[in-house]
Amino acid sequence: MTANTSPTFRKGGSAAEEAEKESNANGGRRDRGPDYFSLKEDQSSTVIRLLTDHDDWIYVEQHSFVPTKAAPKGVEKWPKAMTSVCRKDPAFEGHFSDCYICDNKIKNNFGKVASSRIRVWALAVERELVRGDGTEALGGPAKKGVVIGVRDRIDEVDELNADGKPTGAKVNYPRLLVINQPMKGFFANLKALHGLYGTVCDRDFAITRDGLGTDTNYKIVPIDPIPDLKPGTPAWELYTQSVTDREVVLEAIVGEKASDEYYARFFDPTKTVEKDGTIVDSTAATTATGAVAVGGMMNLASASSPSGDTGLSSDMRGKIQALGVPAGS
Ligand SMILES: [Zn+2]
Repeated sequence: MTANTSPTFRKGGSAAEEAEKESNANGGRRDRGPDYFSLKEDQSSTVIRLLTDHDDWIYVEQHSFVPTKAAPKGVEKWPKAMTSVCRKDPAFEGHFSDCYICDNKIKNNFGKVASSRIRVWALAVERELVRGDGTEALGGPAKKGVVIGVRDRIDEVDELNADGKPTGAKVNYPRLLVINQPMKGFFANLKALHGLYGTVCDRDFAITRDGLGTDTNYKIVPIDPIPDLKPGTPAWELYTQSVTDREVVLEAIVGEKASDEYYARFFDPTKTVEKDGTIVDSTAATTATGAVAVGGMMNLASASSPSGDTGLSSDMRGKIQALGVPAGS
């Protein structure tokens, strides 16, 4: 499967550092951010409108089902395994030279070396089918139970003032989803539809999970296009505006999963992340700060990367902002 190259993501290392710097500075993001697309049950389904068209899908080398290191003291909710973006992906050339998971041949949850695989990223809005309920407002008795339209699902988000504090008011946004799936079984199906329509943004798709585990395929059924909702329309502008308002940048989301902080937090037992986001080499002064080696692997302090030296130009933030958002027309 030859996914198209994604030249925008070749700036991913900068995006990673930017994301890291921002989370260090603010101690968090504007809101909890978008959920990940996920259908857990066989035959479960949902409806999405892709915001990222075929040519802008980001693809990276990814490690899946990687066991996490021990939870930090006092943390009760802690994942057993996490996915990460491989730091040896070409996007990070010149930014990172190590990958804790590759370098130490860390094993995944299934006892196999967690080698990296290509995974694809896109943004979407979650939608839902509207069926007539027999009332006149929804088409009367004749339309009872029949699909009469598609609408956005809604995320209710705290409105923040200029200082980032909640005002008490709520803001409604279309529910954004981050999709992170392989080509095979998911994006390849969308690619086929792109081959038919020339875009995957001009209509909604009903997506149904078919199977479980590695056998999973996602059946994707196109729904009739809605002329007023496609790139270039005012309704589409509202989508892109809501992405901007919520400061959702796909590059930054992907980059964050390759960042020093992410690897230090979840995988590398030789490093710890302080409350303010500072990364500390826990082998340097005190060897035992509760960090437990995963599978006996220790990442022996290989000339650790200088944290804080981002070398980012000041307008990088603006450039990153402009990425990951579908072109208006
Ligand atoms: Zn790796």
